[in-house]
Amino acid sequence: MEVETREIRLKTKGQGDIKDITGLVESEIKGSGLQNGTVTVFVPGSTAAVTTMEYEPGLIKDIPLALEKIAPSGADYEHHKTWGDFNGSAHVRAALIGPSIVVPFTEGRLVLGTWQQIALLDFDTGPRDRRVVLQIMGVS
Ligand code: ZN
Repeated sequence: MEVETREIRLKTKGQGDIKDITGLVESEIKGSGLQNGTVTVFVPGSTAAVTTMEYEPGLIKDIPLALEKIAPSGADYEHHKTWGDFNGSAHVRAALIGPSIVVPFTEGRLVLGTWQQIALLDFDTGPRDRRVVLQIMGVS
């Protein structure tokens, strides 16, 4: 059993920007040389999230619309009194979805459904440079 920690860096537009990072995660698994195991995909930061979804144009709109109902961007948040950074909505959305997922891989390939991609969601108020940490555990 080996553990390898790798990192993906990417730019987001913030404001609910959703990036498909499946290919990037899979190429890091290939780079690790590990064949069977699990990868933890974790975004450091409290205004972004990682999940799986079908990455298609409809859901790229539907997911932010659903989150707008749960944590409206224009609402008043207690968080704004703490820092005055006016991204309370981003924090609530990120907390609901969560910062990480674990995905198994076999023979160097992610075990995902055909219509299931790994997505990074950035809810912050503007463009961000994000890093996504991959901790790959397995055997070669
Ligand atoms: Zn904040």
